[in-house]
Amino acid sequence: MNKKGILTVISGFSGAGKGTVVKKLVSDYGYKLSVSATTRAPRKGEKDGREYFFITKEEFESRVCSDGFLEHATYVDNCYGTPAEYVDRELQKGNDVILEIEVCGGLQVMERRPDAVMIFVVPPSADELKRRLVNRGTEDAANIEKRLMRACEETADIDKYDYVVVNDTVDECASNINDIIQNEKKKLIHNNDCLDVIINDYKRFERRK
Ligand code: 5GP
Repeated sequence: MNKKGILTVISGFSGAGKGTVVKKLVSDYGYKLSVSATTRAPRKGEKDGREYFFITKEEFESRVCSDGFLEHATYVDNCYGTPAEYVDRELQKGNDVILEIEVCGGLQVMERRPDAVMIFVVPPSADELKRRLVNRGTEDAANIEKRLMRACEETADIDKYDYVVVNDTVDECASNINDIIQNEKKKLIHNNDCLDVIINDYKRFERRK
């Protein structure tokens, strides 16, 4: 029997380093990462279909109307969405899927998929977040300012997540997240099929009336 995979949402402030952590979870631990669609322009080195599916605003809206996204949100002037079909297909195949998405999208997934594991990644401090964003060198000063303001807003929703994980070093953070997911997989809500097998097995001992 092919057991369904587990869905994990990883959110965190832009610049928290969650992208690097997620890459490690994919390369070293074998998780499947859902590639999102976005209306944002590709950054230098980003490839269509690898980091994102880069689509127009019109395409994005048409996919929203046809219910093509599991969740979608606007983040600092651009739209982002998770393709529903990929996620469902991989989960059905028994693969564990990670969504690396911001908080509004995370909350939508929580509503639609209450069994999803919700993890929020934070850097060791707010100063460290600013330092990482500046050092990354991918955004101009105005955009960095917007992202820091958004981080401040996002703190209001952290308590809706199941876990907060500090990203001090990538290896340690990825290992901690892997431990969380593997432990979650053992929970009964993800093992109802096993429970049925156990119950049916013991039915043999039921006294005949
Ligand atoms: P960036 O522009 O830095 O690649 O991403 C900006 C933010 O959008 C990040 O916090 C990232 O996690 C989030 N994001 C990426 N893809 C999606 C998505 O499909 N849905 C939502 N809601 N957020 C996403």
